Amino acid sequence: KSLENKAALVTGAGSGIGRAVAIGYAAEGAAVMVSDINEQAGLETVALIEKEGGKASFFKADTSTAEDNEALVKATVETFGKLDIACNNAGIGGDAAETANYSLESWKKVLDINLDGVFYGCKYQLAAMEQNGGGSIVNMASIHGSVAAPFSSAYTTSKHAVVGLTKNIGAEYAKKNIRCNAVGPAYIDTPLLEKNLKPEQLEALKQKHPIGRLGTAEEVANLVVFLSSDKASFMTGAYYLVDGGYTAV
Ligand code: NAD
Repeated sequence: KSLENKAALVTGAGSGIGRAVAIGYAAEGAAVMVSDINEQAGLETVALIEKEGGKASFFKADTSTAEDNEALVKATVETFGKLDIACNNAGIGGDAAETANYSLESWKKVLDINLDGVFYGCKYQLAAMEQNGGGSIVNMASIHGSVAAPFSSAYTTSKHAVVGLTKNIGAEYAKKNIRCNAVGPAYIDTPLLEKNLKPEQLEALKQKHPIGRLGTAEEVANLVVFLSSDKASFMTGAYYLVDGGYTAV
Protein backbone atom coordinates (compact mmCIF):
# COMPACT_ATOMS: atom_id res chain seq x y z
CA LYS A 1 0.00 0.00 0.00
CA SER A 2 1.32 3.43 -0.98
CA LEU A 3 0.28 5.38 2.15
CA GLU A 4 1.09 2.89 4.91
CA ASN A 5 1.88 4.62 8.26
CA LYS A 6 0.86 8.05 6.89
CA ALA A 7 -1.47 10.48 8.66
CA ALA A 8 -3.75 12.49 6.39
CA LEU A 9 -6.48 15.10 6.56
CA VAL A 10 -9.15 15.93 3.99
CA THR A 11 -11.45 18.97 4.08
CA GLY A 12 -14.95 18.81 2.63
CA ALA A 13 -14.71 15.05 3.08
CA GLY A 14 -18.41 14.54 3.76
CA SER A 15 -19.39 14.44 0.10
CA GLY A 16 -18.32 13.98 -3.50
CA ILE A 17 -14.63 14.27 -4.33
CA GLY A 18 -13.49 14.82 -0.73
CA ARG A 19 -15.24 11.67 0.43
CA ALA A 20 -13.66 9.67 -2.42
CA VAL A 21 -10.22 11.06 -1.52
CA ALA A 22 -10.67 10.14 2.16
CA ILE A 23 -11.75 6.63 1.19
CA GLY A 24 -8.85 6.39 -1.28
CA TYR A 25 -6.30 7.48 1.33
CA ALA A 26 -7.61 4.95 3.85
CA ALA A 27 -7.63 2.16 1.26
CA GLU A 28 -3.92 2.85 0.70
CA GLY A 29 -3.23 2.49 4.42
CA ALA A 30 -3.33 6.08 5.74
CA ALA A 31 -5.07 7.12 8.96
CA VAL A 32 -7.50 9.82 7.83
CA MET A 33 -8.92 12.86 9.63
CA VAL A 34 -12.19 13.39 7.83
CA SER A 35 -13.26 17.02 8.11
CA ASP A 36 -16.35 18.86 6.96
CA ILE A 37 -18.64 21.68 8.04
CA ASN A 38 -21.44 19.10 7.90
CA GLU A 39 -20.92 16.75 10.83
CA GLN A 40 -23.43 14.09 9.80
CA ALA A 41 -21.96 13.83 6.29
CA GLY A 42 -18.44 13.59 7.70
CA LEU A 43 -19.42 10.86 10.14
CA GLU A 44 -20.94 8.90 7.23
CA THR A 45 -17.56 9.02 5.47
CA VAL A 46 -15.84 7.76 8.64
CA ALA A 47 -18.34 4.89 8.81
CA LEU A 48 -17.70 4.00 5.14
CA ILE A 49 -13.94 3.87 5.81
CA GLU A 50 -14.30 1.83 8.98
CA LYS A 51 -16.60 -0.63 7.21
CA GLU A 52 -13.71 -1.42 4.87
CA GLY A 53 -11.31 -1.86 7.80
CA GLY A 54 -9.67 1.57 7.43
CA LYS A 55 -8.73 4.06 10.14
CA ALA A 56 -10.54 7.41 10.35
CA SER A 57 -11.74 10.10 12.75
CA PHE A 58 -13.95 13.15 12.25
CA PHE A 59 -13.23 16.78 13.06
CA LYS A 60 -15.75 19.51 12.29
CA ALA A 61 -14.20 22.57 10.65
CA ASP A 62 -15.37 25.51 8.56
CA THR A 63 -12.40 26.05 6.24
CA SER A 64 -13.32 29.68 5.64
CA THR A 65 -11.87 30.52 9.07
CA ALA A 66 -8.19 30.43 10.01
CA GLU A 67 -9.06 29.21 13.52
CA ASP A 68 -10.84 26.09 12.30
CA ASN A 69 -7.97 25.19 9.95
CA GLU A 70 -5.50 25.57 12.80
CA ALA A 71 -7.67 23.46 15.09
CA LEU A 72 -8.03 20.77 12.40
CA VAL A 73 -4.26 20.41 12.00
CA LYS A 74 -3.84 20.33 15.79
CA ALA A 75 -6.52 17.65 16.16
CA THR A 76 -4.93 15.52 13.44
CA VAL A 77 -1.49 15.68 15.07
CA GLU A 78 -3.01 14.91 18.49
CA THR A 79 -5.02 11.98 17.14
CA PHE A 80 -2.48 10.38 14.79
CA GLY A 81 0.82 11.77 16.15
CA LYS A 82 1.75 13.74 13.00
CA LEU A 83 0.54 15.14 9.68
CA ASP A 84 2.03 13.75 6.44
CA ILE A 85 -0.70 14.47 3.89
CA ALA A 86 -3.40 17.11 3.41
CA CYS A 87 -6.03 17.58 0.73
CA ASN A 88 -7.63 21.03 0.77
CA ASN A 89 -10.78 20.09 -1.06
CA ALA A 90 -13.72 21.99 0.47
CA GLY A 91 -15.25 24.32 -2.08
CA ILE A 92 -18.50 25.78 -3.42
CA GLY A 93 -19.76 26.85 -6.84
CA GLY A 94 -21.40 30.18 -5.97
CA ASP A 95 -24.02 32.11 -7.88
CA ALA A 96 -24.36 32.02 -11.67
CA ALA A 97 -24.43 35.52 -13.17
CA GLU A 98 -22.61 37.77 -15.62
CA THR A 99 -19.75 39.55 -13.93
CA ALA A 100 -21.48 42.95 -13.81
CA ASN A 101 -24.42 41.31 -12.06
CA TYR A 102 -22.39 39.04 -9.81
CA SER A 103 -23.48 39.68 -6.23
CA LEU A 104 -20.91 41.03 -3.80
CA GLU A 105 -22.16 38.52 -1.26
CA SER A 106 -21.54 35.47 -3.43
CA TRP A 107 -18.15 36.81 -4.59
CA LYS A 108 -17.02 37.10 -0.98
CA LYS A 109 -18.41 33.72 0.07
CA VAL A 110 -16.78 31.86 -2.82
CA LEU A 111 -13.40 33.53 -2.25
CA ASP A 112 -13.65 32.99 1.53
CA ILE A 113 -14.06 29.23 1.12
CA ASN A 114 -12.34 28.39 -2.18
CA LEU A 115 -9.30 30.63 -1.80
CA ASP A 116 -8.83 31.95 1.75
CA GLY A 117 -9.77 28.52 3.11
CA VAL A 118 -7.05 26.83 1.05
CA PHE A 119 -4.47 29.42 2.14
CA TYR A 120 -5.38 28.98 5.83
CA GLY A 121 -5.22 25.21 5.42
CA CYS A 122 -1.78 25.29 3.78
CA LYS A 123 -0.46 27.79 6.33
CA TYR A 124 -1.06 25.50 9.31
CA GLN A 125 -0.41 22.23 7.46
CA LEU A 126 3.01 23.46 6.28
CA ALA A 127 4.07 24.31 9.83
CA ALA A 128 3.08 20.84 11.07
CA MET A 129 4.75 19.13 8.11
CA GLU A 130 7.95 21.08 8.61
CA GLN A 131 8.10 19.85 12.19
CA ASN A 132 7.55 16.33 10.90
CA GLY A 133 10.38 16.55 8.33
CA GLY A 134 8.19 16.63 5.20
CA GLY A 135 4.80 16.04 3.66
CA SER A 136 2.54 16.41 0.66
CA ILE A 137 -0.36 18.81 0.08
CA VAL A 138 -2.90 18.54 -2.73
CA ASN A 139 -5.16 21.54 -3.34
CA MET A 140 -8.43 21.03 -5.21
CA ALA A 141 -8.55 23.46 -8.12
CA SER A 142 -10.60 22.74 -11.26
CA ILE A 143 -10.28 23.05 -15.02
CA HIS A 144 -11.40 26.58 -14.13
CA GLY A 145 -7.94 27.03 -12.66
CA SER A 146 -6.88 27.46 -16.30
CA VAL A 147 -9.98 28.12 -18.46
CA ALA A 148 -13.07 30.29 -17.98
CA ALA A 149 -16.38 29.19 -16.48
CA PRO A 150 -18.72 31.80 -17.97
CA PHE A 151 -21.16 33.21 -15.37
CA SER A 152 -18.95 32.01 -12.50
CA SER A 153 -16.31 34.72 -12.16
CA ALA A 154 -15.79 34.14 -8.47
CA TYR A 155 -15.26 30.41 -8.98
CA THR A 156 -12.82 30.89 -11.89
CA THR A 157 -10.90 33.53 -9.96
CA SER A 158 -10.66 31.40 -6.83
CA LYS A 159 -9.42 28.33 -8.72
CA HIS A 160 -6.82 30.25 -10.76
CA ALA A 161 -5.57 31.73 -7.48
CA VAL A 162 -5.32 28.29 -5.88
CA VAL A 163 -3.05 27.23 -8.77
CA GLY A 164 -0.83 30.27 -8.11
CA LEU A 165 -0.69 29.65 -4.38
CA THR A 166 0.22 26.02 -5.05
CA LYS A 167 3.12 27.00 -7.33
CA ASN A 168 4.47 29.37 -4.70
CA ILE A 169 4.32 26.77 -1.96
CA GLY A 170 5.95 24.19 -4.25
CA ALA A 171 8.83 26.57 -4.87
CA GLU A 172 9.21 27.69 -1.25
CA TYR A 173 9.05 24.28 0.41
CA ALA A 174 10.77 21.89 -2.03
CA LYS A 175 14.03 21.95 -0.04
CA LYS A 176 12.06 21.21 3.12
CA ASN A 177 10.79 17.95 1.68
CA ILE A 178 7.21 19.24 1.37
CA ARG A 179 5.51 18.89 -2.00
CA CYS A 180 2.40 20.83 -3.00
CA ASN A 181 0.33 20.24 -6.13
CA ALA A 182 -3.07 21.24 -7.47
CA VAL A 183 -5.58 19.08 -9.29
CA GLY A 184 -7.86 20.27 -12.07
CA PRO A 185 -10.96 18.13 -12.53
CA ALA A 186 -13.46 18.86 -15.27
CA TYR A 187 -17.13 18.24 -14.43
CA ILE A 188 -17.50 15.44 -11.93
CA ASP A 189 -20.72 13.70 -11.05
CA THR A 190 -21.16 14.93 -7.43
CA PRO A 191 -23.86 16.63 -5.32
CA LEU A 192 -22.18 20.01 -6.07
CA LEU A 193 -23.24 19.76 -9.71
CA GLU A 194 -26.72 18.52 -8.90
CA LYS A 195 -27.19 21.52 -6.60
CA ASN A 196 -26.16 24.01 -9.28
CA LEU A 197 -27.40 22.66 -12.63
CA LYS A 198 -30.66 21.68 -14.29
CA PRO A 199 -30.85 18.22 -15.97
CA GLU A 200 -30.65 19.69 -19.50
CA GLN A 201 -27.60 21.74 -18.50
CA LEU A 202 -25.98 18.56 -17.18
CA GLU A 203 -26.54 16.81 -20.53
CA ALA A 204 -24.99 19.74 -22.45
CA LEU A 205 -22.02 19.67 -20.09
CA LYS A 206 -21.31 16.02 -20.83
CA GLN A 207 -20.90 16.90 -24.51
CA LYS A 208 -18.14 19.38 -23.66
CA HIS A 209 -15.94 16.47 -22.61
CA PRO A 210 -14.44 14.60 -25.60
CA ILE A 211 -14.77 11.45 -23.49
CA GLY A 212 -18.57 11.98 -23.67
CA ARG A 213 -19.44 11.79 -19.98
CA LEU A 214 -18.78 13.42 -16.63
CA GLY A 215 -15.95 12.15 -14.46
CA THR A 216 -16.40 10.22 -11.24
CA ALA A 217 -15.16 11.28 -7.83
CA GLU A 218 -13.02 8.13 -7.76
CA GLU A 219 -11.25 9.15 -10.98
CA VAL A 220 -10.21 12.39 -9.28
CA ALA A 221 -9.29 10.60 -6.05
CA ASN A 222 -6.95 8.26 -7.96
CA LEU A 223 -4.86 11.26 -9.03
CA VAL A 224 -4.97 12.87 -5.58
CA VAL A 225 -3.86 9.65 -3.87
CA PHE A 226 -1.00 9.29 -6.36
CA LEU A 227 0.18 12.91 -5.89
CA SER A 228 -0.01 12.49 -2.11
CA SER A 229 2.18 9.38 -2.17
CA ASP A 230 5.94 8.96 -2.47
CA LYS A 231 5.36 7.64 -6.02
CA ALA A 232 5.02 11.33 -6.99
CA SER A 233 8.34 12.23 -5.33
CA PHE A 234 9.54 14.45 -8.25
CA MET A 235 6.22 16.29 -8.65
CA THR A 236 5.72 19.62 -6.93
CA GLY A 237 4.44 23.14 -7.55
CA ALA A 238 2.33 21.91 -10.46
CA TYR A 239 -1.25 21.65 -11.64
CA TYR A 240 -2.55 18.35 -13.01
CA LEU A 241 -5.73 18.00 -15.04
CA VAL A 242 -8.15 15.10 -14.82
CA ASP A 243 -10.64 16.34 -17.37
CA GLY A 244 -11.76 13.81 -19.98
CA GLY A 245 -10.14 16.02 -22.63
CA TYR A 246 -12.21 19.13 -21.76
CA THR A 247 -9.33 21.60 -22.03
CA ALA A 248 -7.73 19.86 -25.03
CA VAL A 249 -10.30 21.21 -27.50
P1 NAD B 1 -19.74 18.62 -2.86
O1 NAD B 1 -20.70 19.74 -2.73
O2 NAD B 1 -20.23 17.27 -3.24
O3 NAD B 1 -18.90 18.46 -1.51
C1 NAD B 1 -18.30 19.57 -0.90
C2 NAD B 1 -18.18 19.30 0.60
O4 NAD B 1 -17.53 20.43 1.17
C3 NAD B 1 -19.53 19.14 1.30
O5 NAD B 1 -19.50 18.00 2.14
C4 NAD B 1 -19.68 20.42 2.11
O6 NAD B 1 -20.37 20.25 3.33
C5 NAD B 1 -18.22 20.79 2.35
N1 NAD B 1 -18.04 22.21 2.61
C6 NAD B 1 -18.63 23.26 1.97
N2 NAD B 1 -18.23 24.41 2.52
C7 NAD B 1 -17.37 24.09 3.52
C8 NAD B 1 -16.62 24.84 4.46
N3 NAD B 1 -16.70 26.17 4.49
N4 NAD B 1 -15.83 24.17 5.32
C9 NAD B 1 -15.77 22.84 5.31
N5 NAD B 1 -16.45 22.07 4.46
C10 NAD B 1 -17.24 22.69 3.58
O7 NAD B 1 -18.62 19.13 -3.89
P2 NAD B 1 -17.56 18.34 -4.82
O8 NAD B 1 -18.10 18.33 -6.20
O9 NAD B 1 -17.12 17.08 -4.19
O10 NAD B 1 -16.39 19.42 -4.83
C11 NAD B 1 -15.25 19.30 -4.01
C12 NAD B 1 -14.16 20.20 -4.56
O11 NAD B 1 -13.87 19.84 -5.91
C13 NAD B 1 -14.53 21.69 -4.58
O12 NAD B 1 -13.38 22.45 -4.26
C14 NAD B 1 -14.91 21.91 -6.03
O13 NAD B 1 -14.72 23.24 -6.45
C15 NAD B 1 -13.94 20.97 -6.73
N6 NAD B 1 -14.36 20.59 -8.07
C16 NAD B 1 -15.56 19.98 -8.29
C17 NAD B 1 -15.92 19.64 -9.59
C18 NAD B 1 -17.23 19.00 -9.92
O14 NAD B 1 -17.57 18.98 -11.10
N7 NAD B 1 -17.96 18.47 -8.97
C19 NAD B 1 -15.04 19.91 -10.64
C20 NAD B 1 -13.82 20.50 -10.37
C21 NAD B 1 -13.49 20.83 -9.08
